[in-house]
Order: sequence, then C-alpha cells, then structure tokens
Amino acid sequence: MTTHTHINTQALHASFSSDSATNSVDAPLYRTTAYQFNSTEHAANLFGLKELGNIYTRLNNPTVDVLEKTIASIEGGAAAVALSSGTAAVFYSIINLAQAGDEIVASSNLYGGSFTQFNDILPQLGINVRFVDPSNAENFTKEINAKTRAVFVESIGNPSLDVADISAISDVAHRHGLPLIVDATFTAGIFKPLEQGADIAVYSLTKWYGGHGNGVGGVVVDKGTFDWSTSKHPLLSQPENSYNGLRFGIDLPEPLLPIAYALRLRLVPLRNLGACISPDNAYSFIQGIKTLPLRVKQHSENALKVAEYLQARSQVEWVRYPGLSNHASHPTAVKQFNGGFGAILVFELSGGEQAGRQFIEKLKLFKHVANVGDAKSLAIHPASTTHSQLTVDQQASAGISPGLVRLSIGIENVDDIIADIDQALT
Ligand code: PLP
Repeated sequence: MTTHTHINTQALHASFSSDSATNSVDAPLYRTTAYQFNSTEHAANLFGLKELGNIYTRLNNPTVDVLEKTIASIEGGAAAVALSSGTAAVFYSIINLAQAGDEIVASSNLYGGSFTQFNDILPQLGINVRFVDPSNAENFTKEINAKTRAVFVESIGNPSLDVADISAISDVAHRHGLPLIVDATFTAGIFKPLEQGADIAVYSLTKWYGGHGNGVGGVVVDKGTFDWSTSKHPLLSQPENSYNGLRFGIDLPEPLLPIAYALRLRLVPLRNLGACISPDNAYSFIQGIKTLPLRVKQHSENALKVAEYLQARSQVEWVRYPGLSNHASHPTAVKQFNGGFGAILVFELSGGEQAGRQFIEKLKLFKHVANVGDAKSLAIHPASTTHSQLTVDQQASAGISPGLVRLSIGIENVDDIIADIDQALT
C-alpha cells in the first residue's frame, strides 16, 4: 500500500487493519492450536499449497502472521518466518540451504552463541563453516569454493562493534552465485540489509525489535529475489523428499516462486524440527514494534552521548561505538545506517578485568544481565559471561579483552544514565 512507505507507519499499520470477526482494530491474540478445515477439498488444497491458510500453529497462526507481515513490510522483504528464538532463526536460515558436505563462509566476529553454533554444532551435522575477518569484503572471496552455499555476517559484530559493508560483501557473494544472510539484530529500525544487497535478513526479536525484555523470538526475512533454481542450491533446486518431491526453487507456481526460500523454511525445517514462536510472544513483539522507530532513535541518541562522556573520562582507556568518528567502521556506519548508530557500546577501564567487574557491581540504574536491546539500560562483562565458552584466543579474535565492559543503553533520560555511570566510575 502506497501510504505505508515509512517505518513509523509500517510499524503500526502494515499488516493489520481490523479483525474481520470482531472489528477489533488491534491484532487479537490467537492461542489456538489447530484450525477447522471447511471441507476435505479445502484441507487438501492447504496441504498441496494450492491455497495458503492456517493448518496448525507450529506452521502458522493468525497472530504470528501479523508479526511476520509487519516485519516483512518494514524490511522490504517478500515473506518472513517467525521462530522461537534468534538462535533458531540463525540455525534454520543455514539448514534451509546447506546440508552435510556443504560449507558456509561467515564473519569471525559473531555473537558468541552463533559462533558456537557455527564452529561446533554445524560441523557435527557435516556443514563446515569458514570464518573470515569481515573488514575487507574480498576476504570472503578467498574462502568461497564449490561447496559454499551462503555468506553469513552480522550488521554489527558483537562486541567488537565493527560494521559490515553489506553492499560490498553482497557483491562478492552474488559474483559467486551465493546469497548473503545478514543477522541485523543490533540495527533493527536503523538499517534494512535487504535494501543494501542482502538476500536474507535474520533477527533476534528478543532484542530491539521486541524491545521490552519480555519475550524470546526470532525471524528470517526473505527478500524474494534470489535465484534458487541453479545446481548450486540443491536443497531448493532438487526434489524435496519430505514434500512430495517438490523442487521449491523451480516447481512452485507464481506468486509463490519468489518466496521459495521462506516457504521451504516454513514447510521443511519449521514443520519438522518445530522451533515455532509462541503466539503470546508474537503478540508482545507486535506491541513492541509499534514504537520501534521511536525507541531506536532514543537508544542511539543516548548511546552517542554516553560514548562521548566516557571518552572524556581519565579512567577509561578506550571506547568503541560506531557513532564515534574515531571508530574504524564509522564511515560504513554513516553510509548504511539511517537515524542512529545503535545502542551498544563497549569500553575498557584502566585496571583491566578487576576494574571492569567492580564498575558493573557499582551500577544502580543499569541491570546486570546477559541481554541487550531492552528499553532499560543493561551492562555486562562479556569475558566472564556471554563469551566465556570461547578460548582466550577465540575471545581475542572476536575483539574481547579481559576488562571489556559492554553497555546496552536504554531509553531512560540520558542525564540519569550518565549519573549512574559517573557514580560507578568514581
Ligand atoms: N543474534 C545476535 C546478534 C544476538 O546478539 C543474539 C543474542 O544475543 C542472537 C542472535 C540469539 O538470539 P536469541 O537470544 O533470541 O536466541
């Protein structure tokens, strides 16, 4: 719809006008498990993809559908599939295009859980991941070979906070006939990877998209333009055993063919492995998304002020924030992001690990949690928590020093945020 061109409008109106049964103007929460078929023909049509509709909430649900359509609209995608967590979204985005014997080329600065999934779990399934330094797009070229099925990066590495140049990396991927998958969790609302060349966007909805620290969920968004029909993508171009031999990237009728990847993700991994989002969490995220554009603007404004404050403090050795002009990724961030540089910043206190831990102990307003992207301000010491499963060498290559502190700046009044940091520093 032409009136839904801006994110603030899409966040409120893109996928729901009013409920046909009740005229409710807010999307209802459907906790149902299954949906009555109108006839045996209707049932057969739904299973045969001749008609799309609700069958069973593991596959689709009217509340989840509103969430998926809202996000697809905001992201400029053709279809979205919501999942039980960001972790499941990352996993399904990969196994929907790669099988045993295949490879993925991924950036080395991934969120700790994703790194473990790629470094330890995917190889157990026969999918090997080659990690590269994403600061130069050509580094990906060196690791791509005949077995590669996709390139995977995060929009902002965690917690190194380097910004991936999505248009340059997508050029490399596309030159090799590969899709680019971008986990853009850290830049929800300020960056649309699908508009910059990515083919698939992945989000943890748990973070800024939902934004209130009140649910866990994830989503995979399919831009709908990638050509899956070639022999390079056998999972989409070869007959699918679990779906009557359907070749998703070839046999689907228009208008379903462009969303072959999203549809396969729903009908093969989601249907048979089962990491569906709960309707209750989908409902919470729909409420959160209504204020996503306002929240991320405030998060970014506050984070920039906190970064500038910390830079001026003698106890602070360095501050890393993509919005600071001294950050190596600042030019890429300026080029790509719209309306801010995100809520996450990291810094090192002189005094190393002990000083970092002490600082966290003294904070009062900040919550000490293993989370980011809440409306509230959060703090953590990654080396002893989120990244503690990595070896010291792996931590170092992910940009984590022993005394590094990570802050997720909330939308409280920035003077209160800075006052809390100030009292903890002094
Ligand atoms: N991707 C990124 C960039 C993350 O930071 C996280 C979690 O912190 C995840 C994925 C996993 O998301 P979830 O906690 O919803 O499983």
